[in-house]
Amino acid sequence: MTSASAIDLHARATPGYTSRVDNARRLLARAAAAHPGTIVQASSLGAEDQVLTDLIAKDRLAIAVATLDTGMLHGETLVLIDDIRERYDIRIERYRPVHEAVIAFIGRHGEDAMRQSVALRKACCAMRKVEPLGRMLAGRTAWVTGLRREQSSERADVDFDTTDDAGRTKLSPLADWSWADVWHYLDVNDVPYNALHDRFFPSIGCAPCTRAVAAGEDFRAGRWWWEQGVKECGLHVGGAASAIGASA
Ligand code: SF4
Repeated sequence: MTSASAIDLHARATPGYTSRVDNARRLLARAAAAHPGTIVQASSLGAEDQVLTDLIAKDRLAIAVATLDTGMLHGETLVLIDDIRERYDIRIERYRPVHEAVIAFIGRHGEDAMRQSVALRKACCAMRKVEPLGRMLAGRTAWVTGLRREQSSERADVDFDTTDDAGRTKLSPLADWSWADVWHYLDVNDVPYNALHDRFFPSIGCAPCTRAVAAGEDFRAGRWWWEQGVKECGLHVGGAASAIGASA
């Protein structure tokens, strides 16, 4: 007997779906036109970002697609980068942490620094995610994220279109989408997605800091599960006005 896929479990057509898709397409097209050559999708390679990449590629929008290759991603996530390239014939920009900084950090704190304290976990995220994101966004005037209001209480007020602390436009075209919408879109458009989603990983980050969730657990319960409180890595902290901020 085969187990149910994420599509089997989550994909569902609900009232308003078509208008939410149309709205996302409209927002993306408008932003691409307003920021010629200076807009990027900061993709976490999660389900939401796969929807966005599909919309961008299908509508041939002039929006670059980039991801943070933290050096700690699952093999399943890395494979998806190749799947996207083959499917859409687009280049995915990869931003990695500074090698010397990683060596120094591990030398000083060990491989499991993120488990030792919240401060060290945040320092690891700053080095592997936030700093590379700064390079991804340098020279860009707008970025696209897969944030949705439903993802967590901290994201309940996500706007479609806002301005970050650096003055860039931060676009979240799926802000009002449900998890059922995301999976319905992936299903009907046959979009490639991370195989981990079929193993109960709704939110996927670095391998040491992501686990599967059990039935009834929150969407982000599998991220930094040993910590209490807000589960963010610094990319979107402060809601609309993150200093630099990806759909991680
Ligand atoms: S998610 Fe974990 S491994 Fe990845 S950057 Fe943050 S602390 Fe480091």
